[in-house]
Amino acid sequence: MYIPDDKLEEVRAASDIVDVVSDYVKLKKRGSNYFGLCPFHNEKTPSFSVNPSMGIFKCFGCHEGGDVFSFISKIENIGFTETVRLLAERAGIPLPVDEAQREQSSEVESIYHALRFAARFFYKQLTQTDAGQPALEYLKGRGFTATTIKRFGLGYAPDRWDALLNAAEEEHVTPETLEKAGLVLPRKNSDGYYDRFRGRVIFPIFSHVGKVLGFGGRILSGDSDQPKYINSPETKVYSKSRVLYGLYQGKQAIRQAEEVLLVEGYTDVIALHQAGVENVVASSGTALTEKQIKVLNRYAKRILLLYDADNAGMTAAVRGIDLVLAHGLAPYAVSLPAGEDPDSYVQTHGGEAFEAMLDEERQDFVTFLHAQAERQGLLDTPEDSSEAQRSVLETIASIPEERALDRDAYLRHASEVFGVYESDLRREFEQIVRQQQQKNRARRRRSQAQQAASASSGDPRPASARSGPSQEADAAPADQDPEPVEPLPEEKMLLRLMLEHGTRLVEAVLGHMALDEFTEGPSRRIVEHLIEMYQEDAVDKQPFLDGTLGSEIQRLATEVMVDRYAPSENWSSRQNITVPRMNDDPYEAAASAMTLLKLDRVNEAIERQRERLYQATRHDDSDLTELQTEMMELHELRKHIEQRAFLTWDVA
Ligand SMILES: [Zn+2]
Repeated sequence: MYIPDDKLEEVRAASDIVDVVSDYVKLKKRGSNYFGLCPFHNEKTPSFSVNPSMGIFKCFGCHEGGDVFSFISKIENIGFTETVRLLAERAGIPLPVDEAQREQSSEVESIYHALRFAARFFYKQLTQTDAGQPALEYLKGRGFTATTIKRFGLGYAPDRWDALLNAAEEEHVTPETLEKAGLVLPRKNSDGYYDRFRGRVIFPIFSHVGKVLGFGGRILSGDSDQPKYINSPETKVYSKSRVLYGLYQGKQAIRQAEEVLLVEGYTDVIALHQAGVENVVASSGTALTEKQIKVLNRYAKRILLLYDADNAGMTAAVRGIDLVLAHGLAPYAVSLPAGEDPDSYVQTHGGEAFEAMLDEERQDFVTFLHAQAERQGLLDTPEDSSEAQRSVLETIASIPEERALDRDAYLRHASEVFGVYESDLRREFEQIVRQQQQKNRARRRRSQAQQAASASSGDPRPASARSGPSQEADAAPADQDPEPVEPLPEEKMLLRLMLEHGTRLVEAVLGHMALDEFTEGPSRRIVEHLIEMYQEDAVDKQPFLDGTLGSEIQRLATEVMVDRYAPSENWSSRQNITVPRMNDDPYEAAASAMTLLKLDRVNEAIERQRERLYQATRHDDSDLTELQTEMMELHELRKHIEQRAFLTWDVA
């Protein structure tokens, strides 16, 4: 599709980069820029920044950067045309349609197109045809207004085998594309296809930026032996574990409230919206997944888990709590009055009463778990009671180690709720944490042993390129870091220089070093914290040393502050680089240590490349030339580093 330049500029002008990026990243304003966790690489402290006046984003960690178009294209993994379309739709700017070009567009783009087409078709059937009348009556009977129907794009699929198929043909959307979009199924005994959704009220499922991804359909006639609800299958664009129903319509309200309400059904979400409670999503019939929690984490600080008083709902709520905590969100639970769901509640009592009920009934997770244990008679004997306490402590232990203050607060709270001494709880808690660490270490060793085994079986790829499925399935969120590797001496010196001299050395060092040049584990985490502090103009060594940032960081930080990481005979004059004692000239010491660290990193890369080349020669691999070119580039890079050219790159 040809998009005229003035249209492009119109779309760009209407797409505020902070607003667009905020759909994917929780941004915080500092000075004139915004910062957040990079969506393009895995990190725990923010090195991703957005500059609204220049309309660009930049990551210090992985070096991704660009304007609003490149951000969307990269994060949605779509081409330029589809990127412009997405931003135009977002801003309500109509774009010219070009049928010829559409046929050449990528598979994913044509699936999106088919879904968009189907959503419009279903909406028209509901609102503008006689066939849709009973469905419209049904929705009105449930109290949904025309505005609500439009806002959620509700529709009707006619009770025929080919209604959508025929309409699609007129629009040049092929049955094959409809099948890939999950909208039609191939006939079993003959050629051709038939509509998946027939005689159903349609609930489109939107991505958080408003792209149609799939549909849910509710049966209209009561006497049918068909299932009440059917849903689109997983497709190239629809992954159920990622999507949250209602997020698109509710995200502003969620961001404002910093809180999101999790309910079960589509109609719960819609009814609450209409009653003015908009910070609500549904997890599309599955228990809350890790991916969904990560998405919610961009918008909210707290998750309110709404559950039915029946046991099934409760088990699901309990299961969600650990995962929510592990991702740094605070879970709260609200029990609905017996026999009510959110939909019925707001229909009877209204939105304000519903919100008042939430405030009244909400329980933090410690209180909630205690109440559940009590209800199930699990606090009746001392043995049972200590078992229940232990299970609550295990849940508290899923709060990441970095959030030591949260852990503390919940431990204190648990001692009140259970009426036991805090010191006793703490002793038990420490033991649980130690046991979990041991378990994680054992698991890491197992997975490393597996890696080593597959490496020796002649797999030529580097370890990082092999992700064994068993390894991924095993890995708990907390143990993604591999067994810690000892940081290099020059690296420790850089850490010490930055901790000791604060802002000016942080700037001097991190202006020239990438995050991944520091050894994974506590060393890299110290650097991440320093970047964050630097951005807040609050570099301070105290939290590193006093344990506020966790015991691993404390151990390394105190270690590097000890004088033996001043240059010693062993390493201070390698490769003709002399490292002055730090106190003589901290900048020169930093420059030398950086040079050494970069040389070590490039030498490691050369070593790996040499192994790859060796394997490629042995297996007569066709990539040989490419590998040799890369090798030459690495040697070139090494020369640059030796000449300290990296120190002047950004000055030029
Ligand atoms: Zn990044």
